[in-house]
Parts: sequence; structure tokens; C-alpha cells
Amino acid sequence: MAEYDVFCECKRSAAIRTSRTSKNPGRRFWCCARLKNEKPCNFFMWLDNETMGLADDGLEEKLKQLEDKLARKSMKNKQLKKQKPEQFMYFCIVIVVMFAVMVLKL
Ligand SMILES: [Zn+2]
Repeated sequence: MAEYDVFCECKRSAAIRTSRTSKNPGRRFWCCARLKNEKPCNFFMWLDNETMGLADDGLEEKLKQLEDKLARKSMKNKQLKKQKPEQFMYFCIVIVVMFAVMVLKL
């Protein structure tokens, strides 16, 4: 189902494009089908915003994705916390070695 009845401000069927911005990477949106040299209108609408109100399945899937993301984030945090003591130990060893070298030189 690639074709929907979505029209832009110039009454043409809108085109689906994929966002490439860092804020919304891979997010799809409707926009004017005209090319830049054909003077496109300012029509713009996110694809997922439209489906949100229509189907609950989409919302549920989104929730699952969000929960997945959160779970992965907390996993990462746990891994970071595990790594920190080791880094601190390494830092301490370096300082002790530097201190020892300074003392020996004196
Ligand atoms: Zn247009």
C-alpha cells in the first residue's frame, strides 16, 4: 500500500520522502511531489502522525519499540557503570606510577 489519497497544496498526490535530518533520521513524511525546479508548495506532514489516529496497532508497536529502546539504554548504563571502576583503577595506577617516578628522580 504505497498509494494514499493525500494531496498537497497544489492538489497533486503527495510524495513520500524519507527524512535525513539528525533529529528524525529515517522518518517518512508527505511532501509536494514537484521537484525543486518545478516550484513545489510548502506541504509537509509526517507519515506516522497520520497513522497514529487511525490504528491502535501502530501505537502499540510504537510503545513496544520505545520500551525496547529504554531497555537497551538501561543495559548500556549498567555496562557503563561496570566499566567506571576499572577506569578509575587505571587512573590511580597511572598517578601512583607518575608519583613513584617523580620521587625516584628526586
Ligand atoms: Zn504541491
